[in-house]
Amino acid sequence: MSQQLLLIGGGHAHLAVLEAFARKPLRDADITLVSRFDSSFYSGMLPGWVAGHYRLDQCTIPLPPLAERARATFFRDRVIAVDLVERVAYTQSGAPLPFDVLSINTGPEIDRDAIRGLGEHALSLRPIEKFVEAWQRLEARFSGAPRAGTLTVVGGGAAGVEIAMAIAHRAVTSALRLKVQLITGRRGLLPALKAGVRKRVAPLLPKIGVRVIEDEVVAIGADRVQLARAGELPTDVTVAAIGAAAARWPRDCGLRCDARGFIAVNSALQSLSHPFVFAAGDCASMPDHPRAKSGVYALHAGPMLAANLRRALAGRSLRRHIPQPVALYLLSAGARNAIGIWGPLTFEGERVWRWKDRIDRAHIARFNPDAPR
Ligand SMILES: Cc1cc2nc3c(=O)[nH]c(=O)nc-3n(C[C@H](O)[C@H](O)[C@H](O)COP(=O)(O)OP(=O)(O)OC[C@H]3O[C@@H](n4cnc5c(N)ncnc54)[C@H](O)[C@@H]3O)c2cc1C
Repeated sequence: MSQQLLLIGGGHAHLAVLEAFARKPLRDADITLVSRFDSSFYSGMLPGWVAGHYRLDQCTIPLPPLAERARATFFRDRVIAVDLVERVAYTQSGAPLPFDVLSINTGPEIDRDAIRGLGEHALSLRPIEKFVEAWQRLEARFSGAPRAGTLTVVGGGAAGVEIAMAIAHRAVTSALRLKVQLITGRRGLLPALKAGVRKRVAPLLPKIGVRVIEDEVVAIGADRVQLARAGELPTDVTVAAIGAAAARWPRDCGLRCDARGFIAVNSALQSLSHPFVFAAGDCASMPDHPRAKSGVYALHAGPMLAANLRRALAGRSLRRHIPQPVALYLLSAGARNAIGIWGPLTFEGERVWRWKDRIDRAHIARFNPDAPR
């Protein structure tokens, strides 16, 4: 009887796994891909889509055709639990998905309990597909509105900064009537990036129309946010960009996780507690080689993950994957302008934006050859 390989999540690493299996099919194994949505919206293009540089169909990767090319069965559902003894995953709709080998690439979640009121009153960047739907409704609500609304971005990390600049750019280049304020959090603007990046971004924000407030949000209400130091600020819409948190179910099902709840894996991307389980991307953490959460690392893990899933199914020894120490970051800055970060180097300009644009379009074309250019 053929073995069952279950892939949970249509994240960056699994896109590359499916690509590898399409090129060289897996023998004697049935593959199932289960993911929450039918298509993956590419996060790297989210700010560009919000800013108005791209159409929706230029930024999405439909999962069923990719699965079909890899001879995998696609199942749209959300995994909520895994029984690691019986080797069965359970989904929200109640479907049991048996497996011999399991691979998890479910990305990050947002911690809805991190700030009082966030779950009820804020629009979260994750899952991106839900944010995309919500943003379309907001655009309709504030386009040509009689009064300009205030949109508050909570979180001064890269995603918060990019999304704030994208919305501000959209507001000056279209009929969208929104004023944008960014509340950085206790650690200030772009705390995980080098001082050189902050030096470039800090003066850009007000120029584009983003008001920056260096304070911490302690509570979010329907029409105001409460700050740790400076009282309350009125808001019409609040967007939470507070960074990556781990889903609860991997820890609840007994997988060994790091202190923050991300699945602990070795350099073969294999669970430290369950050798038949693999994990890659933002949901995983490699204690021996810690790296920032980033789509670049998730994507680069894909080919090695595919090789090791093939080897695990065949009972062969696994290959090791040591992530590169430095990854290229390209932050889009509202207009057709981007800031590049490579280790200690930073660079900025329209040419950097064009470079990012080429990389992003090539990513989409790689996994969705039918996407409009
Ligand atoms: C605005 C923004 C801009 C960004 N720009 C960049 C950038 O330019 N470069 C960069 O490197 N990183 C960027 N990032 C970070 C990047 O998005 C993440 O690091 C990356 O998406 C992680 O990839 P992943 O493969 O781990 O998971 P994801 O790409 O998040 O994919 C996870 C998939 O799993 C599915 N899923 C989740 N839970 C379940 C479940 N329980 N059951 C079934 N399916 C599930 C999801 O629907 C999704 O399809 C950005 C993030 C944001 C928010």
